[in-house]
Amino acid sequence: MATGNINVSVENIFPLIKKFLYSDHEIFLRELVSNATDATLKMKHITTIGETSVEYGDPKIEVKINKEKGTLHVIDQGIGMTKEEVEKYINEVAFSGAEEFLEKYKDSAKDSGIIGHFGLGFYSAFMVANKVEIITKSYKDEPAAHWVCEGTTQFTLEEGEKTDRGTEVILHINEDDKEFLKESRIRELLVKYNKFMPIPIKFGTTEESLPLPEDAPKDAKPETKTVDNIINNPTPAWTKQPTELKDEDYNDFYRELYPMQFEDPLFHIHLNVDYPFNLTGILYFPKMGQDMNIQKDKIQLYQNQVYVTDNVEGIVPEFLTMLRGVIDSPDIPLNVSRSYLQADGAVKKISSYITRKVADKLKALFNNNREDFEKKWNDIKIVIEYGMLSEEKFFEKADAFALYPTVDKKYYTFKELEEKIKENQTDKDGTMVVLYASNEDAQHSYIEAAKEKGYEVLLMDSPIVSHLLQKLESTKEKISFVRVDSDHVNNLIRKEEDTISKLSDEEKEKLKADFEKVIPKEKYSVQLEAMDSNAAPLIITQPEFMRRMKEMQQTGGGGMFGMGNMPEMYNLVVNTNHPLISDILNTKTEKKQERLIKQSLDLARLSQNLLKGEELTAFIKRSFEMVK
Ligand code: ADP
Repeated sequence: MATGNINVSVENIFPLIKKFLYSDHEIFLRELVSNATDATLKMKHITTIGETSVEYGDPKIEVKINKEKGTLHVIDQGIGMTKEEVEKYINEVAFSGAEEFLEKYKDSAKDSGIIGHFGLGFYSAFMVANKVEIITKSYKDEPAAHWVCEGTTQFTLEEGEKTDRGTEVILHINEDDKEFLKESRIRELLVKYNKFMPIPIKFGTTEESLPLPEDAPKDAKPETKTVDNIINNPTPAWTKQPTELKDEDYNDFYRELYPMQFEDPLFHIHLNVDYPFNLTGILYFPKMGQDMNIQKDKIQLYQNQVYVTDNVEGIVPEFLTMLRGVIDSPDIPLNVSRSYLQADGAVKKISSYITRKVADKLKALFNNNREDFEKKWNDIKIVIEYGMLSEEKFFEKADAFALYPTVDKKYYTFKELEEKIKENQTDKDGTMVVLYASNEDAQHSYIEAAKEKGYEVLLMDSPIVSHLLQKLESTKEKISFVRVDSDHVNNLIRKEEDTISKLSDEEKEKLKADFEKVIPKEKYSVQLEAMDSNAAPLIITQPEFMRRMKEMQQTGGGGMFGMGNMPEMYNLVVNTNHPLISDILNTKTEKKQERLIKQSLDLARLSQNLLKGEELTAFIKRSFEMVK
């Protein structure tokens, strides 16, 4: 029997390994199963290139718990190792790999979510085991080897008795890590990390019902047969060619990924590129609605079918982190901090490739089946609008498919909208005014008034709409968005058609003074307008600019010179042609005039949903007095 010393330059690496990334102890299993997978795939490679006459067969990996002995076993039928190879790969290569990894990352490990996902390799077994054995037999015609190490720098290496090809790694689990002898815990880890690995992984057995014979009685119980319990799906959808898959297969895979999702995704995007980087994957657009925050089932990142993380920040553009699905790429550096990741050239390319693919897919969906695209618009608009705001490239591409729905449920692209409204909705300065509503019920009367004038009214109700409008106004020429309730319909699009006022200039001056005496100046700016005598006598509007700045503040506009604290300011538009206004002007007693103005103002506020609480109570009481 050979004994030896592992060549150490850092005195005693094992205590370090044990302490390292305490919360990530569980990754040891993924590392060992990955090694077993690699060894099996290497065997496959060797047999396919004809370097050996050995049969590849139908290999699997087995994970086993021995409760009595307190051991966990990972067994493969891969290439195995000769004694010399154990010496080389385990004592030298694996060790120096682990050492290098620890040296490099022990300080920064704590600040980065992604560090610790890869790199420790075989030696991570010592995070949970005080003694590790390797029993291995190479595919070459040589005796088996048996390596034992008890978590010190000493090991023993002798000939082993194993006769079939492959490697068995035996972990004698620590007292403190007994959880890894529990079946449920191991199953959980295998499902989390190894669910889509390319070699079948057996964990225990399961009973499978055999088909009943045709003449079996109705209440007959089918016979069962004990079969291997295979944890993983070795050929997940993303590893296949898009041509091999139907919509149904994509939906099935979605459910396999997210067993708790009962709703089908709206559509999928199959990613598949091998130059200048390697990336495969499938992204799904889930039904999203208005909620931007609730996100439990996230995009999962894999490397060669091994689960890495579901934190894809920095890899996938932020607006697409609302999607679901998988990305698999060996080209994403993992043992690095997030900030490094974002600066990495390959990762930047990956991120812009994904953006482009998503834009192309949306365009294709729009072109191929517009009706269906319109139906889905409400569920996907939040992602698209957010993308338009955050990624310049996406903004440009989105012009081809971003929709602007009207309150009448027509859906226009920007170009179509422009053609439709340009003539009727361009003001005297040549600016095209796009009218929109954010709430059909609350702004109903304004919408109706605008429609009566033949205007189109968009329904823009996403939470980030004010930012989007700002962006559109600053990129497109001579357009301006105006919410229907921001002014009287005659003033929304000013075209210099003079309506004649019934009042003389003197009368107007007096009227204005009368109003300003009664109405709080800091809240309302009184504006006299000669409107149709059928229009309302008083209208309260909130100027577009003020309202939008406030909204942008609330949804994180930033840097708006303290606009969030801006007082609520309204325009009080007085229709000088309305008979009630003439009455107010001609009322002789000051008291009665004051009452008329206050009552009318309250009515105007009521119609805008601005009258509340104590003021509303007082208004109702006053109104009852008046009808008595
Ligand atoms: P890595 O897998 O990153 O190379 P490890 O520390 O996990 O580092 O393993 C070191 C080496 O040991 C591997 O490169 C491989 O040659 C060998 N090895 C580990 N596990 C097995 C196994 N199950 N079968 C055959 N060889 C193995």
